[in-house]
Amino acid sequence: MKNDGKTFEDTFTSFCRKAGFRRTLQRKIVYGLFHGARRHLSVEDIMSLISKNNPELREESVYRILGDFEKAGYIRKVEVPGAKKYEYASERHGHFLCSRCGKILDVDISSIELPKSLTGISDISITFNGVCPDCAKRKRRTIA
Ligand SMILES: [Zn+2]
Ligand SMILES: [Zn+2]
Repeated sequence: MKNDGKTFEDTFTSFCRKAGFRRTLQRKIVYGLFHGARRHLSVEDIMSLISKNNPELREESVYRILGDFEKAGYIRKVEVPGAKKYEYASERHGHFLCSRCGKILDVDISSIELPKSLTGISDISITFNGVCPDCAKRKRRTIA
């Protein structure tokens, strides 16, 4: 995470102010999961990450918060077919979906050149399918 003199608390407070949200502990927890992180999280992932320390946080609340955060432009749905995951709304990138373990990796697509005639692009969704490096390693080991 970049240290620009602002604490996490400051960032969360100004986010809530801008989006018109009341600052609640629940929102703060979910906000913190995506803040400065490159991760892809489903509601189940989020529940298993937070339920131990926050048993009072219910799945319905997490759904609601995710919906609010998406509307506020803080997170977005991961554009991978079949993946019900969210990620921090950073610059657009492609995704690599592992056909074995289901892991999703970010793929930099900034070097992809499109024909100059295509100027009206409003959204990008690119998914590469294959076997992730971890699974590829595992396979090699079993063969050897
Ligand atoms: Zn894999
Ligand atoms: Zn991503």
